[in-house]
Amino acid sequence: MVERAGSSPARRRRSSATGSSISFDAPTLNKARWARRRLLAWYERHGRRFPWRSSNTGLYQRVVGEILLQRTQASTVGQFFDSFFQTFKSWNDIDAVPIGQLENVLRPIGLWRKRATALKALAREMVVRAGNFPTSRDELESLPAVGQYVASAVLLFAYKRAEPLLDGSMARVIERVFEPRRLVDIRYDSRLQALARILVRSRDPTRVNWALLDVAARNCLPQTPKCDECPLKPRCNYPMGTHTPTNEKL
Ligand code: SF4
Repeated sequence: MVERAGSSPARRRRSSATGSSISFDAPTLNKARWARRRLLAWYERHGRRFPWRSSNTGLYQRVVGEILLQRTQASTVGQFFDSFFQTFKSWNDIDAVPIGQLENVLRPIGLWRKRATALKALAREMVVRAGNFPTSRDELESLPAVGQYVASAVLLFAYKRAEPLLDGSMARVIERVFEPRRLVDIRYDSRLQALARILVRSRDPTRVNWALLDVAARNCLPQTPKCDECPLKPRCNYPMGTHTPTNEKL
C-alpha cells in the first residue's frame, strides 16, 4: 500500500506527478471508456456500502475517513467510523482534544500515533482556515498531513473534480487491465496517474473511484484474483493471453 499522507516537505514538493500532460492512443482511450461504463453498471449491484459513502456524509467526515483508511482494512474502519464521529463532530473537536486522548481513541484501528499526529496537525490548520480547503493541488499538498492521495480526495469530494483515489489496490487493477507501472512508487508514475485520471473522467467520478476500489478488494486480489466474477475480465490483460474476449459488445 502506498503511503497516502503525512508526507515530508521534500516529498510534498515532488508529489505532483499527476500526469496531466500525457496523452494516450485511441484504443487505450476507447478501452478506458468501456471500463468506466462497466464499472459504473457493476457498482450499482455490487458496490460496497460504507458509512463514508453515504450521501449524508459531509466533507469533514470524508476527508478524516480517508486518513483513517490509510493502510487499514475498510471493514475495520467501517466498524469504527460512527463512534469516532459521534465523539469528534468537527475539526474543532479534534483540535481541542489532548493528543494522548486522541491516540487512545484511535488505538483499535492501529497506527494511532501517526494518525493522531496527522489529524491534530490538519485540524489546527482547518480551524484557522474556518474549515475551507484550498482549491488547488499545490496548495492542498502544502497542508500538514495532506499528500497526493488526500489532496485528490479533497478535490474529488469538495470540488467534484475527476481525481483518482489512486492507491496500491487501484493501481493493481489498472496495471492488469491496461499496462504495468513504470515506477515502483505510484505517486511519481505520471503515466499511471494520467491513466487513472482518464478512467475516472465522468459525470460521476466518485462512483468510478469507488467501483475501482471495490473491484480491487472483491475481485482483483493480489495473489488469486477472482476474474470470473470481474466486470473488467473481457478486456483485461492479466495474466497475459488467458482471458478470451467474449462476444459481448466491447
Ligand atoms: S479480470 Fe482478474 S486480473 Fe483483471 S481486473 Fe478483473 S480480477 Fe483483476
